[in-house]
Amino acid sequence: VVVHTGELRLSTQGDSDVIDITDGVQRVVSSSGIDEGIAAAFVRGSTASVTTMEHEPGGVHDLRALLDRLIPVEGDYEHNRLNRDTNSHAHQRASIVGPSEVVPVSGGRLALGTWQQIVLIDFDDRPRERTVVIQVIS
Ligand code: ZN
Repeated sequence: VVVHTGELRLSTQGDSDVIDITDGVQRVVSSSGIDEGIAAAFVRGSTASVTTMEHEPGGVHDLRALLDRLIPVEGDYEHNRLNRDTNSHAHQRASIVGPSEVVPVSGGRLALGTWQQIVLIDFDDRPRERTVVIQVIS
């Protein structure tokens, strides 16, 4: 088994900022020299997610609107009450969407669809510095 680990460091605006990290993940895959295997991308922290989507303004708007409806910013949240915090919605959204994705690597390239990008979504209610850990495994 060959494992290559890389990291992406990103500054986000918070508030469901959606950032396309596909090129960064591909750079780590390319630098690994691995042609066939899998690439896992995982964001550290409990208020951000990694997922895939068609990264275009309409899709980004609709996903943010959906999560606003499902898990509103303002709510009756124990996390906020018990911890004098303001970001329980961010924790819940991050848990639902999830912290990682695994993408097959074929011919040294991420085997994504044409209209499918890997995105980091920062749900926290303030700007953050984020680290996405990428492991390429063959
Ligand atoms: Zn919190």
